Amino acid sequence: MTLAAPTSAEALAVLPPGDLAARGVHVTKVYGQGNARVVALDMITLGIPKGAYTAVMGPSGSGKSTLMHCLAGLDSVTSGEVYIGDVALGRLSDKRLTRLRRDRVGFVFQMFNLVPTLTAAENITLPLDIAGVKPDRAWLDTVIDTIGLRDRLRHRPAELSGGQQQRVACARALATRPDIIFADEPTGNLDSRSSAEVLSFLRRSVREMGQTVVMVTHDPVAAGYADLVIFLNDGRIAGQLAEPTAQRVLDWLGQSAPADAAASDPPEPAPGRSAAGDSKGKTAGQ
Ligand code: ADP
Ligand code: MG
Repeated sequence: MTLAAPTSAEALAVLPPGDLAARGVHVTKVYGQGNARVVALDMITLGIPKGAYTAVMGPSGSGKSTLMHCLAGLDSVTSGEVYIGDVALGRLSDKRLTRLRRDRVGFVFQMFNLVPTLTAAENITLPLDIAGVKPDRAWLDTVIDTIGLRDRLRHRPAELSGGQQQRVACARALATRPDIIFADEPTGNLDSRSSAEVLSFLRRSVREMGQTVVMVTHDPVAAGYADLVIFLNDGRIAGQLAEPTAQRVLDWLGQSAPADAAASDPPEPAPGRSAAGDSKGKTAGQ
């Protein structure tokens, strides 16, 4: 794994930009005004390490999707700055931003978002076709072999299982060989077996193909596939965990759960590890 043990999300953000696929500096996102005003992101500073698999977790409404959309340049920030590589998105014209998203960013959504009238193969190459770019055949072959769907390429989405459709969506996100892939709850609609296939594929795309993946999830098992977990709460970074396992994520969540969550679901005692220690990014010796 390429990820050096970080000491904090703030520290990640001040790593040399060359080590970060994306970063946000003092990012605030406010929706609405007056009584309807919601601060979805509250002065967040963080970095997404290159060549690593980062998971983002947090309660519903904590700002996970907003963070993804802002980091990906799908939504503008109210204040602060977002960088993809060394490019500050706030300074780009709409046209340049669209081009950067097309060329350097991949997306995977919870609902797959495949085009129903196209075959799996056509869906995978759609971003290239739209961009008028000739596919890198060797790269596409690697992607298609890694998702293990070569015998399904002529099928349309309706003829594929949910897990297969999501693997096609992952391959589509990878087709342009982007600098960074954002996946918002990519296993939210999948059973555990299909989830495992998709999560394994995303991890292989990082480990074997050198990709960078950021994934929102509420599932500790899914987060256990990542190299780093960033926890959000109320639009702020609540902590992070390097080299997570599902159990360590559960321990972290149990120790940092708000009182109302703890009341409805009493946490198991989780001895020997303090949330404060992990939130400073100490890698527990296990
Ligand atoms: P999460 O993905 O963690 O569930 P979101 O990023 O979707 O959280 O939302 C964070 C907060 O911002 C929530 O309070 C949500 O209601 C609010 N929010 C998100 N999108 C919008 C929007 N388009 N307009 C107004 N409020 C929004
Ligand atoms: Mg969301």
